[in-house]
Amino acid sequence: MLRFAPSPTGDMHIGNLRVALFNYIVSQQKKEDLIVRIEDTDKERNIEGKDQEILDILGLFDIKYSQVIHQSQNFRFHSAMALQLVHEKKAFACFCSPEWLEKKREEAKEAKKPYRYDDACAELPHELVIDNMNPFTIRIKRPTENITIKDYIKGEVTFKPEDVDSFIIMRQDKTPTYNFACAVDDMLSDISIVIRGEDHMSNTPKQDHIRTSLNYDKKIEYAHLPIILNDDGKKMSKRDDASSVKWLLEEGYLPSAIANYLILIGNKTPKEIFTLQEAIEWFDLSAISKSPARFDINMLKHINKKHLKNLDAKELSRYVGFADAEIGELARIYLEEAGTTKELKSKIAPIFAKKEIPEEFAESAKIMAETIKNAPYFEEYDDFKNYIMKESGLKGKNFFKPLRYLLTGAGHGPDVAEIYKYLKNYIGAIIK
Ligand code: GLU
Repeated sequence: MLRFAPSPTGDMHIGNLRVALFNYIVSQQKKEDLIVRIEDTDKERNIEGKDQEILDILGLFDIKYSQVIHQSQNFRFHSAMALQLVHEKKAFACFCSPEWLEKKREEAKEAKKPYRYDDACAELPHELVIDNMNPFTIRIKRPTENITIKDYIKGEVTFKPEDVDSFIIMRQDKTPTYNFACAVDDMLSDISIVIRGEDHMSNTPKQDHIRTSLNYDKKIEYAHLPIILNDDGKKMSKRDDASSVKWLLEEGYLPSAIANYLILIGNKTPKEIFTLQEAIEWFDLSAISKSPARFDINMLKHINKKHLKNLDAKELSRYVGFADAEIGELARIYLEEAGTTKELKSKIAPIFAKKEIPEEFAESAKIMAETIKNAPYFEEYDDFKNYIMKESGLKGKNFFKPLRYLLTGAGHGPDVAEIYKYLKNYIGAIIK
């Protein structure tokens, strides 16, 4: 079983989507199920409706899953297992106050040493624990041996017991910490491989230690994906619009192109343009580069254009708000100068809108519009052109510029002869 474990705390980041895609691909390759686990344990940061938004995005990207779990549904298991650990003396109640711990943290900082919990409460006599009315957290005892993690991208990584430390698994308010909930849930769902962002690498030995302490002997494999950098070489953050999947979709990037791009970067792929289904055939998790991937919106646009070109005419026409093949073919011509569906719409919509004609051509456009309205249907552009020219008496710039404005709503663009092929049946709707 694999899992995608997003937190419902904001717009889905492209880094998360990349994680979801890789989990989906590997689940298909291994013929194992993929579940979605909404990590909603941090009540203050949860945003209402974000869980559904995440599922909708997965749907748009064709990422199929067998089940959705909300982590908060598992609270009773988290508490029961924390108690089991206390009972087995693998965890202990810690009465150190947050202020006291903060003081210790400051002292460590001043001494330029990494902060470690001093195990002050690790061996408290039973009576002191039982009769103590102060609030407490539960900490798991630090491991006694090194922990080695097998990671498809980073290789084998070994952590020392002091790097794991005796850390908190249950907060004072009796809710589990992220590491505890995550480790227990991965165990309960029988996860075989965890694919996630490398910002979680330092959590991994802690989660492994929790499961070992709970006597779970299955070793989960890992793949920690390097971060995605922006143009300035910094981590893509919320400030970068393109980091939001929703933003990219609104800008007119196709899900298939975004997926293609996110699988392509920092990877060795047999080709540049491919579908998610194709990627399942050759994707190799261990081929992902160890170094960060760099996000390049121009490259994404280039890929988007290729995916748009691959759509059949009717589909393409739907993306620009129509439903017929001719408009799709017309849109295809405009793909020379547009790279997103939003840009395409901005080229197609003016064709059918009321035309803004520059002063200079206003008069000739008026004459021409009347002539066109009264003209018969012409199959060929040359016949149409010759007829209008003759009837209107316009020529040269005063013919071609107003014609372009009247037919396309723009002063520049593709060859009018070329687009006439797809517009000839719509002349009545275009010249109003
Ligand atoms: N909820 C975490 C996140 O969104 C992911 C945790 C995990 O995959 O283990 O970053």
